[in-house]
This record gives sequence, structure tokens and C-alpha cells, in this order.
Amino acid sequence: MRKVYLDSNATTQVHPEVVKAMIPFYEEIYGNPSSVHGFGREAKKHLEKARGQVAELINAASPDEIIFTSGGTESDNFAIKASAYALKGKGTHIITSSVEHHAVLNTCKYLEKTGFRVTYLGVDEYGRIDPGELKNSISGDTTLITIMSANNETGTIMPISEIGKIASEKGVVFHTDSVQSVGKVPFDVQKNGIHLASLSAHKIYGPKGVGALYIRKGTEILQWQQGGHHEQGKRAGTENVPGIAGFGKACELANSQGLKECAGIKKLRDRLHKGIETNVKQIRLNGHPEERLPNTANISFDYLEGESIILSLDLEGIATSTGSACTSGSLEPSHVLESMGIEPLFAQGSVRFSLSIYNTEEDIDYVIEKLPPIIDRLRKMSPVYPGD
Ligand code: PLP
Repeated sequence: MRKVYLDSNATTQVHPEVVKAMIPFYEEIYGNPSSVHGFGREAKKHLEKARGQVAELINAASPDEIIFTSGGTESDNFAIKASAYALKGKGTHIITSSVEHHAVLNTCKYLEKTGFRVTYLGVDEYGRIDPGELKNSISGDTTLITIMSANNETGTIMPISEIGKIASEKGVVFHTDSVQSVGKVPFDVQKNGIHLASLSAHKIYGPKGVGALYIRKGTEILQWQQGGHHEQGKRAGTENVPGIAGFGKACELANSQGLKECAGIKKLRDRLHKGIETNVKQIRLNGHPEERLPNTANISFDYLEGESIILSLDLEGIATSTGSACTSGSLEPSHVLESMGIEPLFAQGSVRFSLSIYNTEEDIDYVIEKLPPIIDRLRKMSPVYPGD
């Protein structure tokens, strides 16, 4: 049976060049980068090379502004908690959006229990916040804005440069969860007035369990993990050198080829959407029609459960998801689609197709062939389907 992987917002296949770049760190270059001897110095050299590769991809002013972490979730926790606590003397108000990843939402909820006040901005029908509303929400005690660059479920891109401008006018720290946008759309921390940005390697053909937090020089932030003096004293713990070397390589590839490849991915994504639209009635695209990641199409199939669609697709070798990887498995409607005002009856029937450089026209045509009979069959069994 053909296997088609369309769940690349959950994780990507590791690029063969990334695998190749990591192997020496398991076999020969095994020193601890904090050690002063030659083995350690060799590891340190590669650690710093990777730091430069990450910095270059996001246009950080200096590689020192990159702190390696265990991934996007840790970077979000680090950015939000360590800056909220550092700035507690100035204020305790944080602004975020209702469509953030749970790594951000649950961190904000945790802070609410420890004396912080959090404003959750709503979004429009496409999943974008209103910069005017953001501006009006800022008060004298606001210290942090945390708003994602692009949404993992719908791919909708947030008005990041406007948010950055407002944050700098008001003197508020701006953190963005850029896990989904880095490598897929141009992302520039300097141009967009970003102070803190979360990154994750496994969304851009790198290994799992490694990521980074960009911390603009001069941003007030507490030490995240206590221990040794690793990562400029900001995040203690021996660095995951093989993973970091792979992450660096993935960033280098994204920098040199990523955006070019994304144009091809977008064509395939649009071919898929068009094919579904032509062959299946009563569907709707969730997310912004243009301001959207080039690899993502979130489609609702009216009157159906997304779970039953993805299970049927799985039987045909096609991997997709409903909502984010951590919320799939529960039948709760997606908080993202709910915030966009999509009725639960339609939100429940959503399927996220997220593509990668490894997908081909044949993959897409296979999905367009297999999906319509699945939808037909499920609708025939649906007690709520009113008919064509
Ligand atoms: N933020 C966003 C927007 C994501 O999509 C994800 C992963 O799905 C994360 C954070 C968490 O990243 P990680 O899996 O590296 O912890």
C-alpha cells in the first residue's frame, strides 16, 4: 500500500543530510563542550557553529542570542516564565491570544495561579488577532506580549511586524512562538521587533528534543535552569551536541533551500485543496486564504467527525491529523477553530493536511482518489447529514 505522510506540522522526517551531520557526534566527537581539553574544545567548536547557523536563519544580531533548549515547549515555558518573573517588579500583566499552542496557553494559565493577570485576545474568522485590540489591552502593568507567528492547526500567519511595532512603542517585551513559521516563511527577529522567539528542530527536518530560544541582547530574563554555567548561564545542563549539530544543519538547509522548496510545497497544497473542493461537496477551508503557511490546509467536512476521517485515511496509508498532535486523541473541539467562531458541528469535522518537501504530485493525487469515497461512506452513516 502507498504511504503518504501529510502530518508535517506534527513532525517532519529527518533530512538525510541532517542525519549525516549528526553521526560524527555519536562516534568521534563525543567530548563535553564544557571540558577544557581537546575533545571538549572540538565539541564546543561545533556547538558554536550550530549557534551561528540558527542565528543566521532568523537574522539574530549575534549567535550569542541563541540559547539551546530541548524544543519548542521548553522554549515557550522559558520565555514566558523567566521573563514574567524577571519583570514582576514592573508589572504582572501578560497578553496572549486564544489560539496559542498549549505550551503557551498552559504556561499562561500556570502564571495566573501565581499572581499574574493574563488577557487572551480573541481572533477573527481567519484566526488573526486585531492589532488595535492588542494596543488597547496594554496597560501600565503589562510587561509581556506572547503571540505566535503562525498557527499549527490552520497555518494562519499573525500580523507579527505590527505586533512588534506596538510592543516597542509601549516598551513591552514581545515573545513569539515561531515553531511553525521558521523555515516555512521569511522570519526576521530584528525587522519584526521580536525580543524572544521559540524554535524547534523537528518541524524543519531536524531531530526531536532540541530547539532554541532567541533572546535579544538586553532583554531582562531570569536564568531558566539552575546548575552549571552552560548557555551563558541562562540554561544549565550539558548540551545535546548531536541534536544541536543536526538542528544547525537543518537551519542551514532551510536558509539555503527552504523558501524555494516551500513554493513547490504550496503548489502541491493548493492542488490538494482544489482536488478536494472539486470532488467533495460541503467542505470549508479553515484559516486565512492567503496569509497562511504554504504547507498547511485545514479543511472541515461538514456533518462528520474528523477522527473517523483520519482513521479511514490511515487505513489507506494516509497520515493526517485533527488539530494539534497533543489534542488529537480527544474528541474535544479544537480551541483554535472554536476561537475562530466555527460552529462545533463543522469544527468537529476538520482535518489538517500538512505537507513537506518529501510529498509528490502522486501522493496528492492518491489522496484525491481515496478521500471522496471515504467522505461519501461516512456521510451515508451520519445521523446529522441532511443530504446534498
Ligand atoms: N509551538 C507550536 C506552535 C507547535 O506547533 C509545537 C509543536 O507542535 C510546539 C510549540 C511544541 O514544540 P516541541 O514539540 O518541540 O516541544
